[in-house]
Amino acid sequence: MATTRKAANAEPKGLEDLFLDGLKDIYYAEKKILKALPKMAKGAQTEEVSAAFEKHRMETEGQVERLTQVFEILGKRAQGKTCPAIDGILEEGEEILEEYKGTSALDAGLVAAAQAVEHYEIARYGTLVAWAGTMGMTDAEELLQATLDEEMATDEALTALGEGGVNNAALQEAA
Ligand code: FE
Ligand code: FE
Ligand code: FE
Repeated sequence: MATTRKAANAEPKGLEDLFLDGLKDIYYAEKKILKALPKMAKGAQTEEVSAAFEKHRMETEGQVERLTQVFEILGKRAQGKTCPAIDGILEEGEEILEEYKGTSALDAGLVAAAQAVEHYEIARYGTLVAWAGTMGMTDAEELLQATLDEEMATDEALTALGEGGVNNAALQEAA
C-alpha cells in the first residue's frame, strides 16, 4: 500500500541511515550480552540453565562476527552505539542475580531476564532483516536472518527450561 507523507522533510536521511543506526545499536547490545552471559551462567543454580547460557554465549560470538560482516557489506567500520534498552534489561538481570542469590527462585528469574534480552534482540533483528530485504541487500538479509533464527530458538529453549521445571522449583520452595 502506498503511503502519503504528512509534510516535506529536508533531512537527507533514509532507510540506509536507519539500518546503520540499528546495526550499531544491536552491535553494542551483543557485546554487552557477551559480557553478561558468563555472569548469568556462573550464577545459575541448575546445570541446565547454566549450560543454556554458555551455549548462547558461544552463539553470540558468532552473531557479533555476522554483524561485522554486515558492516563490511555496507563499507562501514563496525561500531557500537549506546543502547539504553539493553543496558536497562541487563541491569534488571543483575538485580535478579543479587536479590535472589541462593534462593530456589533464582533460575526462574534468570530465565525470565534472559527472555527479555532475547525479545529485544528478536525485535531488532526482525526489523533489520526486513530493511535489508527492502534495500535488496540479500547477503546482509541472510546473515541477519541466521542470527534471528538463533535468537528465536534460544527464546524457545528458555521457555522449555522455565516450563520444564525451573518455574516449579521456584514455586515449591517459596517462603
Ligand atoms: Fe544475540
Ligand atoms: Fe537499542
Ligand atoms: Fe540472544
